Amino acid sequence: MNYKYVVVGAGLAGLTIAERIANVLNEKVLIIEKRNHIGGNVYDSYNDEGILIHNYGPHIFHTNDKEVYDYLSRFTSWYEFWHRVLTYVDGNLIPMPITVETINQLYNINLSCDELEDFLKKQAVPIDDIKTSKDVALSKVGLDIYEKIFENYTKKQWGIDPAELDTSVISRIPIRFNRDTRYFADRYQGMPKHGYAKMCEKMISNKNIKLLLNTDYKEVIDQIQYETLIYTGPTDYFYDYKHGKMLYRSIRFEYETFSKEEYQSVPVVNYPNDYDYTRITEFKKLTGQEHFKTTIVKEYPNSDGEPYYPFPTKDNKDLFALYQEDMKKEKNVIFLGRLAEYRYYNMDAVVRRALDVFEGGLNG
Ligand SMILES: Cc1cc2nc3c(=O)[nH]c(=O)nc-3n(C[C@H](O)[C@H](O)[C@H](O)COP(=O)(O)OP(=O)(O)OC[C@H]3O[C@@H](n4cnc5c(N)ncnc54)[C@H](O)[C@@H]3O)c2cc1C
Repeated sequence: MNYKYVVVGAGLAGLTIAERIANVLNEKVLIIEKRNHIGGNVYDSYNDEGILIHNYGPHIFHTNDKEVYDYLSRFTSWYEFWHRVLTYVDGNLIPMPITVETINQLYNINLSCDELEDFLKKQAVPIDDIKTSKDVALSKVGLDIYEKIFENYTKKQWGIDPAELDTSVISRIPIRFNRDTRYFADRYQGMPKHGYAKMCEKMISNKNIKLLLNTDYKEVIDQIQYETLIYTGPTDYFYDYKHGKMLYRSIRFEYETFSKEEYQSVPVVNYPNDYDYTRITEFKKLTGQEHFKTTIVKEYPNSDGEPYYPFPTKDNKDLFALYQEDMKKEKNVIFLGRLAEYRYYNMDAVVRRALDVFEGGLNG
């Protein structure tokens, strides 16, 4: 087989780059995917009851990047909605991220928006040298809020204490000095109207693109002649784990369907301190689907399933740096996406990255 371009992995990174190669360069491209479907982790499908679920955990599209939004809008229209999240603390459901409403409900007080900043300043623990996620949280919201909202959730999610995680984990949680309880402040947010899988199918509906499913690229790559390989799988696997295995955090998803229209009042409820799961998502609340039954998913973080979240510790970063030295030496391989680059990308960020890599030229 002869292809100028081979893409390993049919997630958003691989599909975006394949789409660009096929449509802009008008070149032939082969996508090799080891799963039995395209879309990578954004894949969705209808369960036995006919409810659209996300097979690898709830995915909500949100972005301020107009170009990315416009790009994806070529392949889907959108079901627009404002995502909302509640957190179960001390028997109450309080809104996330932290707003004046959150604090008022948590402490049964009645702060105005102007008073929130002062309130949090009084709670905050001054820390000169912020090194860990715990430092970030303590210095932003103080010990009590840290313990009630962040500490146990983070422990469940990562399996270690926030004091051992670098600052990237907790610094992503914003505080709003107003009453806006929408989860994301981004300009564009929503769901592909007919689901992610349909959007992904459209991205690669071009006769220049050939797709090989159910195939690990190592089974076939020796039989293919190519000029450039775009690799979106795990880097340690690419190098046969020569420096060791990169650590990932995984999640076990437990789906349940109920014979009632609604399970909870918002799409996602977080459980920082109770139960073994971190959160419950109700899919119909994300997709707007109407159905007399409803399906939820509970998330149980663990260490041994599918690789989902790169583990943000110093040891792992150091290990990845060794692989990066090897990656730099490759002449005709481009490493792209969350697995190959060992970093967490939101969907919009991974599409942006793929578009930028394409614009930068594909000569390895
Ligand atoms: C639980 C969870 C929830 C998320 N929620 C959101 C959200 O709400 N909003 C948001 O913006 N982002 C969210 N994300 C992030 C989103 O999933 C990623 O941005 C996106 O999936 C990254 O795409 P990718 O192509 O880099 O990786 P992937 O989607 O993982 O695609 C990589 C593909 O490569 C294939 N592959 C790997 N190895 C091989 C091999 N050896 N041979 C052939 N194929 C191979 C894999 O099977 C996979 O299909 C979430 C992620 C997770 C884990």
